[in-house]
Amino acid sequence: MTDPVQKPVREIRLNPVVPSESVLVATARSMRPKKAEEPAPRDTRAHVETCPFCTGNEHMTPPVIATFPGEKNWEIRIVENLYPVLGDDRSNPNLSFGLQQTIDGYGRHEVIIDHDRHGMAIHEMSESHLALLFSVYRDRMEQLYQSNRRLRYVLVFKNFGPAAGASIAHTHSQVIAMPVIPDNVQAELTNSRVFHLRDHHCIFCSLIDEALTFEATIYDRDSGEIRRQINVGQYVIERVGKFIAIKPFASRYEWEVHVLPLRHQSDFLHISKDDLADLARVMRRTMARLDAVLGGAQYNYFLHSLPHDKDFEDCAASYHWHIEITPRTSIPSGFELGSGLFVNTVSPEAAAEKLRAVVLD
Ligand SMILES: [Zn+2]
Ligand SMILES: [Zn+2]
Ligand SMILES: [Zn+2]
Repeated sequence: MTDPVQKPVREIRLNPVVPSESVLVATARSMRPKKAEEPAPRDTRAHVETCPFCTGNEHMTPPVIATFPGEKNWEIRIVENLYPVLGDDRSNPNLSFGLQQTIDGYGRHEVIIDHDRHGMAIHEMSESHLALLFSVYRDRMEQLYQSNRRLRYVLVFKNFGPAAGASIAHTHSQVIAMPVIPDNVQAELTNSRVFHLRDHHCIFCSLIDEALTFEATIYDRDSGEIRRQINVGQYVIERVGKFIAIKPFASRYEWEVHVLPLRHQSDFLHISKDDLADLARVMRRTMARLDAVLGGAQYNYFLHSLPHDKDFEDCAASYHWHIEITPRTSIPSGFELGSGLFVNTVSPEAAAEKLRAVVLD
């Protein structure tokens, strides 16, 4: 595969939903010498004798919460996290002392064992299995929201591969129910609400419309040279049934891709059975593209959906649930940590073209 011919880019791109999450796209940096891409080593074994998440070792996990389709011959299993970051076992009052303020670490932290086979990647799972997995996400989120009014947000995410922070190689997702709404979700909620008040549109729906219809050529006023060419579908990676996978114009991670329902839906808990099948397909195909381009993708993905919280009850028309997939190909540097400005060395246009060029069976 050859790189598409593109002019080097050096510009700060503003994230249209959350301007504070902007990115410096500087593609000349990717010309710096570096060793050839080697496929990331990955544990592909089907069964590992000593793995607590493998079949036959069920006694090694913390207490089980649920199994699917049933307890025997389970394919997906929810268990408590052995080292929870939040817990509901004790209740500490909130504390405020001078500038030190704390909110009690009340919550739930659970592990979803995604598959009975140890080293199974998302793109290797069957679509029916993935549909079951996403229905497990939905149902567990719903149960947790209903379990206690203090839980303001339920975050579902997956770390895959050591570079993405996965400490257990067996494929798994995590659910954290927390007493606060994460900052990034809150920023998305409030900014999209402001956009809706002004434009009477959902900003995410507008982004999808732009990705599917927008076309423009921007010329330099003095030289008459083309400064930017935007083609229809340039940022679209996949379109399956009622879902779309988009490469964001202001991607903070080189191979970041977002998956959204094409039709407006704020709350992931409202997804229908048919839509789960489409979501399974768009996710499998997108992950297969990433895996092919990266030679074994290590990534995080996380689900952003409308919180069940009175402060955001009015956001159903302005917020749009989505999954953000962020493959890990570089480690944030001092510049990124010190400035909060992420550096992306692959132009999103080139990345989208590469991902689309992968031939899937
Ligand atoms: Zn295992
Ligand atoms: Zn929308
Ligand atoms: Zn988001």
